[in-house]
Parts: sequence; C-alpha cells; structure tokens
Amino acid sequence: MTGAPDRGRAGERAGGADTLVVQTAFLGDVVLTTPLLTALAARHGPVDVMTTPGAAPLLETHPAVAEVIRYDKRGSDGGLGGLWRLARRLRRRRYARAVLPHGSWRSAALALLARAPERIGFGDSPAAITYTRRVTRPTAGHEVERLLALAGDVGAAPPVHVELTANDRAVADAWLREHGLGSGFIAIAPGSIWGTKRWPGFAALAATLDAPIVVVGGPGDEALADAVVAAASGRAFTAAGGLSLRASAALIARATVLVTNDSAPVHLATAVGTPVVALFGPTVPAFGFGPRGARDRVVEHAALPCRPCSAHGPATCPLGHHRCMRELSVESVVAAVAAASGVEGTRAIRTGH
Ligand code: SF4
Repeated sequence: MTGAPDRGRAGERAGGADTLVVQTAFLGDVVLTTPLLTALAARHGPVDVMTTPGAAPLLETHPAVAEVIRYDKRGSDGGLGGLWRLARRLRRRRYARAVLPHGSWRSAALALLARAPERIGFGDSPAAITYTRRVTRPTAGHEVERLLALAGDVGAAPPVHVELTANDRAVADAWLREHGLGSGFIAIAPGSIWGTKRWPGFAALAATLDAPIVVVGGPGDEALADAVVAAASGRAFTAAGGLSLRASAALIARATVLVTNDSAPVHLATAVGTPVVALFGPTVPAFGFGPRGARDRVVEHAALPCRPCSAHGPATCPLGHHRCMRELSVESVVAAVAAASGVEGTRAIRTGH
C-alpha cells in the first residue's frame, strides 16, 4: 500500500480518496484498468481500488492509487455476511463516487451499500439500473479506451502501467544471477486459465530457440513450465509459481521478448515495456485485448472459419480438433520472436494456412 489516506475516526473522511473503483475481474483486466485509474486520479486525486487479493499487488504501488481494498469474494468476504461487512467499511469512507468497470450485481451492491452518491458504469452492464450515470460502452477499439470512457473525455490514453519497486527488481535480478542469467533471454508464459487458449507448442519452441529461456507463470503452471524446461537442453529455467506477481513482472521487464498465449502476461509485458509475441487461438485481437506496441507481434490462424468461438476460449474445443492452436507452427512463432526482438522488421507474422 502506498500513500494511505489520513482517515478520521467515526467515519469522517479526512483527506482520503473520494473515488472508489471496483474492479474484481481477472488479472489482465485489472492491468488494463490502470490507464482509467490514472485518468480518474488526474481529475479527482488518487483513488481507492477494490480488487481481488490476487490482483492487489499489481495496484498497491501504482501512483494513481491511494489504497487497495482486497475483496476476497471466494474466501473471507464471501456470502451476504462478507458483502455486508465490507460495505460497512466502505460506508465509513464516504466516497463521493464509485466507478464500476466490472458490471456485476455484486460490484453494484457494494457501491449502493457504501452509499456512494454517484455510481458510474456501463449502460449495458447487468446492474446498470443501479447506476446514477450510465456510460455507453464503445463497441470498437481496445479495452483500454473502452474502460477510459468511464472517465469521460480524457484525451490521449495514459499508459498501461505496473509500478515495480526496487525490491521487486532486486528479487528478479537475484533470481537471474542465481541461474547464471543476465538480460538477453526470452521469457515464455505457457499458462492460461482457459484450456483452448494454451498453445501446445511451447516445448517445441523452447527446443528450437537459440537463446536462454525463462518460463514465467503462477501457481498451477508448474507442470507446463517443467515440460518447456525439459525440452530446452539446459537453456531454460522456470520461475513459475516461485516468484510474486510483481517480481515476475520484473523478470519479464528484463527479457528481450515475452512469448505468451492471449492471457494476462500480454498485459504485464505491456505494463513493463517488454515486446510481446501473443498467440491467439479461439479468441481474436479484435476483441480488444491484443498487444499494441510497435514491436509486438500476433501469431494466429487467420483463415480458420471457426475462429473466434467464444469470448474467453472454452475449456475444450467444441469441434474436437483445436486446430486454431495446434496448427500455429513453431516456425511462425520463431519468426515473430525474431521480429519482436528487432532481428527483422516484418510487421505481422501469421501461419501460412
Ligand atoms: S472451435 Fe475453432 S476456434 Fe474454437 S477452440 Fe476449436 S479450433 Fe479453436
């Protein structure tokens, strides 16, 4: 937590944030909300953010954030009792407004119970009827700009940003030293919550790349990471499940390029300025979650008629063949890595299907 506000006793707000942002969606969505936080802070002063315990470390160092309030909706804050206790805490803070990028009934209930007089969200959200200001969600464009619509006219989008501390960088550098690495490695993030978003070629890629490799990921990604390491003949090391989220981001910041599925690491790399090669299968960049940096590359099976097949990517392929990912060739990904690394200037690399 940084810049914790000076709150008075008995619920008086004494110099604390007057804006609460409720964003309890997935990690990647939370990272993409950082430009909105910057825009709101520029207008109203640093904001408080309610988010999941998993995403909280990504926001608690952000310069636009006064305080992060953890909402453990699947744990200690679960059920109606948890919701009520949290709402009581929020009510004491006397927010002037609540901004609700995540349009759930639960977020809306918290804003209502907190008695925030102004409640701003998208007009197409399930709980829009409870908002005092309903914003039309842009139908096109990147998610960053869509979320920014909640702040009104802000001009150019502030950057997607995760603030790393000196300690985060020190932890990452110590890990690299321990494994005999400096910079000049390729980071690979093979995981995804959604099964069909996982490219099955990461181990083959690791066997092909002529560079040191660091595998990054969270708890649960260890088996995928181990398979990549096993294929790379001593050139790959795994940090999956072994470092905090911000230390992992600091590791990605040291990489030449990150190769990842369409998942949260795309946005983490963007937030720390590392070029990305993003592999899209059941989803498409037009959904608004693709990478946008000048050196970023997308690899996808552009001609496959069943793409996209769902908003997030189903657990298993509904057609049974999973061609969208299985037919992304290692060669096309190697070429994209070369382009993102600045080795060649090709603008977009796609499979030849
Ligand atoms: S239906 Fe098509 S896009 Fe969806 S998972 Fe299967 S191959 Fe991929």
